[in-house]
Amino acid sequence: MSKRKIRRLRPGRLILVITAFLVLVGGLASLGYFAYAISDMPAFNPKALEVSHPTTIYDKDGNFVTRIGAENRESIKLSEVPTVVKEAFLATEDERFYEHHGINFRSFGRALYRNVAAGGIREGFSTITMQLVKLSYLTPEQTLKRKMQEIVLTLQMERHFTKDEIFEMYLNRIYFGEGAYGIQAAAQTYFGKDLKKDELTLDEAAFLAGIPQAPSAYSRYLHSAESIDGEDEQQKAKGEQQKIEQQNQKDYELTLNRRNNVLLRMRDVGIITEEQRKEAAAKPLPDGTKMQSAKYPYPYFVDYVTEKLVQKYGEDMVYKGGLKVYTTLDPKIQKIAEAALANPNNFPKSTVDSNGIIQPQAAAIFMEPGTGYLRAIVGGREHKFQRELNRATQYQSYMGRKIGRQPGSAIKPIVAYGPAIEYNGLGPASIIDDYPQSYGSYSPRNSDGGFRGLITLRAAMTSSVNIAAIQLLNSVGIEQAVKFAQGIGITTLDADRDGLAMALGGISNGVVPLDMVGAYGAFANQGIYVKPHAIIKVESSDGTILDEFQIEQRRAMKATTAYLITDMMRSVVQSGTGTRANLGNRPVAGKTGTTDDGKDTWFVGYTPELVGAVWMGHDTPKAMPHSYGGIYPAMIWKEIASKALADVPVRQFTRPSGIVTATVDSKSGLLPGPNTPSDHMVTDLFAEGTVPTEVDNTHQLMDVCAITGELPNDYCPERITKSVVKLPYSVPSNVADFAIRAPQKTCTLHTPDGIDPTAAEKYKIPDIPVNQPDPQENNGEEKNANSNNSDSWLPGTTGYQRFEQEIKNNTRKAARVKEALQEKIRAYN
Ligand SMILES: [Zn+2]
Repeated sequence: MSKRKIRRLRPGRLILVITAFLVLVGGLASLGYFAYAISDMPAFNPKALEVSHPTTIYDKDGNFVTRIGAENRESIKLSEVPTVVKEAFLATEDERFYEHHGINFRSFGRALYRNVAAGGIREGFSTITMQLVKLSYLTPEQTLKRKMQEIVLTLQMERHFTKDEIFEMYLNRIYFGEGAYGIQAAAQTYFGKDLKKDELTLDEAAFLAGIPQAPSAYSRYLHSAESIDGEDEQQKAKGEQQKIEQQNQKDYELTLNRRNNVLLRMRDVGIITEEQRKEAAAKPLPDGTKMQSAKYPYPYFVDYVTEKLVQKYGEDMVYKGGLKVYTTLDPKIQKIAEAALANPNNFPKSTVDSNGIIQPQAAAIFMEPGTGYLRAIVGGREHKFQRELNRATQYQSYMGRKIGRQPGSAIKPIVAYGPAIEYNGLGPASIIDDYPQSYGSYSPRNSDGGFRGLITLRAAMTSSVNIAAIQLLNSVGIEQAVKFAQGIGITTLDADRDGLAMALGGISNGVVPLDMVGAYGAFANQGIYVKPHAIIKVESSDGTILDEFQIEQRRAMKATTAYLITDMMRSVVQSGTGTRANLGNRPVAGKTGTTDDGKDTWFVGYTPELVGAVWMGHDTPKAMPHSYGGIYPAMIWKEIASKALADVPVRQFTRPSGIVTATVDSKSGLLPGPNTPSDHMVTDLFAEGTVPTEVDNTHQLMDVCAITGELPNDYCPERITKSVVKLPYSVPSNVADFAIRAPQKTCTLHTPDGIDPTAAEKYKIPDIPVNQPDPQENNGEEKNANSNNSDSWLPGTTGYQRFEQEIKNNTRKAARVKEALQEKIRAYN
């Protein structure tokens, strides 16, 4: 029997058949899926390549200001692109660009295999054509369906355009970070070079070819030192400087590695030699100082808005998403402020530093106090590139630390006067004693070296007396003062590190004008702090409201505190260190600030309608001889405020209920007592409930030697009864009101043997009991860092003249009193 050979499938064959079957089914399924995937694909339309979606910025009235993003785009012909740039891109992005038909199946297959293995789209396999399709048609979604659509559109594009056309469109369209779209804008932005005229070096070409893969990450190293914002500041300040530095280093290395990888790739594909690679890899990254971009109006305001938008929505959305952004910008005030800072007459003699930046620099920021709407932001004297250092709003990196600038005396209302009035019930007529005192090893001085003795807080504020601010801060306590300051948006204080020097603006982390304008805004706004902001509404391109900003506000102090501070700061502008900011019959409150040798000078001031901060100083702090906050910053403030308010009717500051007037003794701050002379009485404002109830007991009648005015001894021929101020401590004779204080020493002129001739020498000439202010001398002395302010009582200022007059009056008065009393005694005898 012939055995029919049963044809059996061998195992190998079986597997083959099953596989074939599965491939067939899989293929059909794939086809089905493919059909589905491309069913809602955007139609191929070469015009789509031209469509761009910049973000539009509007001013406070909804008027168009500028577009950001796609505006910064200038097309260039492929023939004008340097060969080295083209080679760098081809090597990095698509080595076989000129060979494939839009899809590089070799890398596609590899990527597909790995992606399937990884369960999703992980590895890029995009050719230049595919990237262009993605840029032009599709949102950056990463799905298999999207990939399939891309493939179809890519093949269509390859049919429609030549390779050179595609490459040219690609180079003109990709995003390079910093708002730069296209290779020409990128070369201008990073290197200040025009590809039509300038050559690019190998390292520059490699840098540019590396960026588009992750533009925000690779351009971050240019900004990482400047992006700390508001509330986190204190947190960051505490020991996080190092972290920031490390982050900066990491950001730089990330970009450096990327560029050097491009160079490696160029060597591997044989475009450059190892020698060339080595040389280029040793070059540093562009440092941003040559960065340039297309000019746009109100650049620092637009930059600030851009910064805020990028923080919230990311660069892609801001530069490509077609947002509509309604801001608080007042073009009129912005233009006035820009003109004031561009005017060399508003600055001391200026120089250009090694980075090509004019110095000293300045910043001005103006805000509406009731709403917190920022009306003008000018972050420098000139604007060179997009999102450069904005001195009005940004902290900057200095000696490896992230800091603002020292506020000098402009901080006094915030950490000394404000808290003392709010928490300790003090007021403008409260008395402090300006005499030499030490706090541990800290012995603060006044800028003129003099001491004024018993003076009112108003007088102390008006002439920016340092000792007064220290005493107030000390009496309130640093913790309370920091709390008060935080309440009005000053978050950079460091209680441990700054200590009492904080009262004079010795703030290690510094402040920026934006913070100061917010803080002073609370004084102008009857004690309610409103967080400064610049954006009112953000809409998406189809008009959907993405964000509508609500005013962030809180009561930071009593309305009476704000009013008393305001009234005291009006004296500063009327007759103190800030007279250059006087606006005639329009009420202005303000404060100057000047740190050691004029390294930082400030004027922060306000009317009921507008609050503004002006800062001036070198980017790298440097002495500015004879510069004071009361000079250039006050002048600039006045120029801006007077023009901004030219058409606004004069309005007074709102006086809240609970403000009363009373007359008190100007040496004790108590109610006038039986011995208070009429010229030691002062009438001023009080918060209800803080008018003293005690009667002055420091003015006392005392017998003194008629000749020396000291305590009489048995041999003094004449004694007189004098009205003196008696306190439980004594002050040295260089304190201005020494002559009216109760004597502590006994007369040494009169002895059992008559007049002592050596003592006579000492008593002969009545010294003016205060050192003559002498800026030269002050400069020669060693100063505690940030502990002295030099803007008060300058020779030639109204404050100084008044001060000098006061001394003369006191001397004359003392002589008159002495004479009158002697006469009385003679008559009595
Ligand atoms: Zn005597």
